[in-house]
Amino acid sequence: MKVYVIIAAGGSGKRMGQPKQLLPLLGKPMLQWTVEAFKQVPEINGIVIVGPGAGLSPLVSDPGPERTDSIRNGLALVPKDCDIVLVHDGARPLITPEIIKNAIEECRKHDAVVVGVPVKDTIKQIGNDSTLCCPNKIKKTLDRSELWSAQTPQAFKYSILVDAYRNAVSAATDDSKLVEDLGIPVRMIMGSYENIKVTTPEDILIAEAILCSRQPKKNL
Ligand code: C5P
Repeated sequence: MKVYVIIAAGGSGKRMGQPKQLLPLLGKPMLQWTVEAFKQVPEINGIVIVGPGAGLSPLVSDPGPERTDSIRNGLALVPKDCDIVLVHDGARPLITPEIIKNAIEECRKHDAVVVGVPVKDTIKQIGNDSTLCCPNKIKKTLDRSELWSAQTPQAFKYSILVDAYRNAVSAATDDSKLVEDLGIPVRMIMGSYENIKVTTPEDILIAEAILCSRQPKKNL
């Protein structure tokens, strides 16, 4: 069973105000934390990095304008004898080897799986028809008991993800959406509330606090 992972690290960091892949977390580049988690999983045969991966993996591809374009570029570098392909955001450096292994295991049984967590907040849908009297008018309150936040990794049988990208007509914010569009069932499995996507400046503080809590405690 050949397993490869594509790590998407080609974003421009619009919401951070700068590209974030190489921002230091406790002195180590964010992307390095991410790659090191995957290197601890013996089931993984190879890592494709989309973006600035020199030195972290021999397989590095150029990003595209949208995440979907970046993953498409990465997928082209995955060897054709691949059985399971994982896709992961480079901006999720708090991923653990345990969650990665579980995603691979579940994908063996179910073909397409997404790691995620039940939402904690009530989610409101906001209409586009904002008027001067009520800007950002709430259109709908969604049923929280049915809502999960999708994280990464997302794991797919290689042939399914290749088909999904062949079929893709527009960009999507995750890979699962393209597989769902094929009518293939995708299973949600439990990720972790610690597996945040470092997106805005305060996420750096949260990520460093979590990484710090995982460091071995020194004797006082
Ligand atoms: O911006 P977004 O939240 O979709 O980014 C998720 C991940 O996808 C990030 O790790 C980012 O670097 C990556 N990405 C990419 N190419 C793009 C946009 C985002 O590899 N064009």
